[in-house]
Order: sequence, then C-alpha cells, then structure tokens
Amino acid sequence: MKPRITFNIITLFPETVESMTDYSILGRAIESGIIDIQTYNIRDYGQGKRKQVDDTPFGGGAGMVLKADVMDKAIQKVKEENPGTKVILLTPKGEKYSQKKAGELSKKKNITLISGHYEGFDERIRSFVDEEVSIGDYILTGGELAAVAVVDSVSRLIPGVLGKEESLAKESFEENLLEYPQYTQPREYGGMEVPEILLSGNHAAIERWRREQAEKITRKRRKDLFENNQ
Ligand code: SAM
Repeated sequence: MKPRITFNIITLFPETVESMTDYSILGRAIESGIIDIQTYNIRDYGQGKRKQVDDTPFGGGAGMVLKADVMDKAIQKVKEENPGTKVILLTPKGEKYSQKKAGELSKKKNITLISGHYEGFDERIRSFVDEEVSIGDYILTGGELAAVAVVDSVSRLIPGVLGKEESLAKESFEENLLEYPQYTQPREYGGMEVPEILLSGNHAAIERWRREQAEKITRKRRKDLFENNQ
C-alpha cells in the first residue's frame, strides 16, 4: 500500500525525531503504512573531513549558523527523491502554526520539514523553501520538536490514523471553539460531582450543554478564536 502522506525531515538529529515518532499512534500509523516518515541527516551533506555543516556568522555574534550550500544540497536530494514535495522551514520567524494549517497540510501527499539547530540558518536558505512555519512565540533548541508537532497534528487528520473517526469531530479548534469539559468514572471525586446533565441520557440536551460550555470557555479563554465565529 502506498502511504497516504510522506514526511521527510531534514535534521542533524534523526534519532531525536525517531524517538518521538516510533511509538503509540504515529508508530502504529507508520507500521500499517498509512504514513511514512523519512529522515535526512544534514551531516551527510557536510563539507570536508569533519563534515562541517555550520560556521560563524558574518559580522560577528554568538553561535553557529547552518550553511546555505550544505542545506541546499540536502534539500535538493530530498526534492530529487520526492518530486513535488512541499518544503517547509521551521523557524520562529515563520507563519504561526494552527489547526487550520494542519488541515491544509493533511491534503498534501508529500511534505518536507527542515529543522534548524544552533543559531539557525544562513538567510539564503529561505529561497530554497516554499513556506516558513513557527509553532509558537518561544525558542526551542532545535526544530525537531517543531517538526514532530507538525507531523503529529497533520497525521491524526489522515483517515485511519486515529482509531475512531469520531474522536476528531468535536475537538478543540474544530469550528474555532475549545472543547467542552469531559468526565469519566467516578461520578464524585474529592467532593467534585460530574454535571447531572451528562448522566441524564438525554442526548439532545447533552449536545446543547456541550455546545454552551464550549462557547463559554472559548469566550473566557480565547476571545480571539470566539470572535472569528461571530
Ligand atoms: N536564532 C534563531 C532566532 O532567533 O530566530 C533561533 C534559532 S533556534 C535556537 C534553533 C532552531 O530551532 C531554529 O532554526 C528552528 O528550526 C527551531 N525553532 C526554534 N524555535 C522554533 C519555533 N518556535 N518554531 C519552529 N521552529 C523553531
């Protein structure tokens, strides 16, 4: 079976990526062939005996910068092996990642994610990519976690990756709402009771209650999302 989507991850630390993708839901999706994740080690495209991949920044400053020529070779290799792949650079300067973006990417067949490290990239790398994405306004030590965040959030939208299609339907961010509160056994814990309505068996009333709760929590915590619905 051909995978429904292939992710190529360009990184200095393939093991870091693999340690996060080889288990649980993603691991099972890989094993069953629904998704495919390939890693490309930037070091393989390094220069000289020491396989150099980075250098000090022109103009001075702390840290090392990944070299444009090395990254270009790695990206070219991935493009050769994956014609038409969508190439995304992971960077705090990119467009803020969202559930909507995950939905758009889940329609693609082949996605390449570039993880930086150290101080980041030579600016010229930007001309080899289609898009730049940030997973939030904070700085990670490397792009591997960001790449896996994208892989994970896109993969779970692919039919067959999650056990029950149902579990996608009413989640936070669907319809720009945060999810309503969920409860399970026991009915009472530490003096806290499960809301009576959830025990009523009245499905229409439960649906109404859940919708109201979702709107209430979204209005309170995420006015920005809520206003997008108005
Ligand atoms: N000097 C860079 C800057 O200020 O924009 C930050 C470099 S960061 C220490 C190293 C790498 O981690 C980046 O090149 C990027 O690939 C990844 N990274 C860090 N924070 C990220 C974020 N919020 N979203 C996506 N990637 C991120």
